[in-house]
Amino acid sequence: MSERYAKQIILPEIGPAGQKRLAAGRALCVGAGGLGCAVLPYLAGAGVGHITVIDNDRVDRSNLQRQVLFGESSLGRPKVEAAAERLTDLNPDIEVRGLNARLDLDNIEALLTEHDVIIDGSDNYATKYLVADACVKFDRPLVYGSVTGMEALVTVFHAGHGPCLRCLFPEAPTGWVPNCAEAGVLGSLVGMTGSLQASEAIKLLLGCNGELESLCGRLWAMDARDGHSRLMAVRRRPDCAVCSGSVDNIVLHGATAPALREIDVAEAATLTDWTFLDVREPDEFAAGHISGAVNLPLSDLQSGHTPPNLSRCVLYCESGARCRTAAEILRRYDYQDIRGLRGGYPAWQASTRGLHSTQDKELFMSNDIPYTFGRFTDRFPEVAAAHSQMGGSLDSAGPLDEKTRALVKIGICAGARLESALKSHVRRARQHGVSAEEIEHAIVLGTNTVGFPSTVAAWQWASKALADSDKG
Ligand SMILES: [Zn+2]
Repeated sequence: MSERYAKQIILPEIGPAGQKRLAAGRALCVGAGGLGCAVLPYLAGAGVGHITVIDNDRVDRSNLQRQVLFGESSLGRPKVEAAAERLTDLNPDIEVRGLNARLDLDNIEALLTEHDVIIDGSDNYATKYLVADACVKFDRPLVYGSVTGMEALVTVFHAGHGPCLRCLFPEAPTGWVPNCAEAGVLGSLVGMTGSLQASEAIKLLLGCNGELESLCGRLWAMDARDGHSRLMAVRRRPDCAVCSGSVDNIVLHGATAPALREIDVAEAATLTDWTFLDVREPDEFAAGHISGAVNLPLSDLQSGHTPPNLSRCVLYCESGARCRTAAEILRRYDYQDIRGLRGGYPAWQASTRGLHSTQDKELFMSNDIPYTFGRFTDRFPEVAAAHSQMGGSLDSAGPLDEKTRALVKIGICAGARLESALKSHVRRARQHGVSAEEIEHAIVLGTNTVGFPSTVAAWQWASKALADSDKG
């Protein structure tokens, strides 16, 4: 044992006592893809005594660019089988269990509660949110990692000690979310991200005390294009739907339900032969709706009303929440294709009227803005109220205080990668006493529109503007 672990036992942060803790440690890695392939060998090499990996995929040649635990000889084999074999070869002194299955509602409680630390190596939002919510419910630390294209994020979520995933991003992006197959991904960046996740998992198993500080409450973000990385403070939301109340009230949602495909206003406007279904209540419909839309209140659907006989429809409501439930019900009928309007009726209104300045109009018309705005209406109820009242224009949104307006605009510009507009809003925000930390938070929220683009770039623009305005 001492020879195998000699190089780490001499670290004062580990020592013989730490090595014993690792040997007794139990780690669960969700996914044996790119992240898992980087996390797992380092956990095994470090002597984490019990490692479980769950995945239901087989090794494909296109995986080998980043999933370096496998090789040509593993093609076609279940990933967990090939992974377990390699890890056992790497370290026969530990117990490795490969589960060729999907993590779902039936097995998640048993799996989480028999492990000390959970590592998210999944590649889809449904699983990420299921794991994250379950970690709050069953009180387990979660080492979160995500890579999109050339950008990566890592943090530790642990309810009671820091934020949960939903404190940062209340809901999974339901629109077009690029995965590796669509957006592409740099294999070496995936490896780096997984290695950092492994370090965090090892620290958690050692017990983070004064000397070792986990990434709980801090978000590591890296842009591989220019090598910049940054740690951003992330905070608990006191009104978080998952971690602020009793764990008994946390309802887990299976990862297998198909997500509603959302389209933006510009795309919806080009569809012919599609029917708009307004699933809001009749009084909301009467107050304003998309011309030609059919009103089918969600409450009617839920009480068993038969929907009209349509083959293709675009659902909309106020925020998107009712559409997702409605889509689940409509799937039981003969509908060929169901889509949701991203940003709901407010986004439609914003794109057609009520916009005063050209800049606002550009912001709202660029594809992801209604969605970005949705993020903020989640966080700031006063924005939501003002937004629907004023037909979507921020400039006419009277009740908003200057500070909130500035933060919303910063988030929107960050999400839309508008450098000069972002800088000018940062300078304005500074004049209204907005702190650098609040600006960071707005950027994190604003850049979670499609995957996680431009967080670091936006922060660099903001830092420049902050430095300028503090000088001046
Ligand atoms: Zn939370």
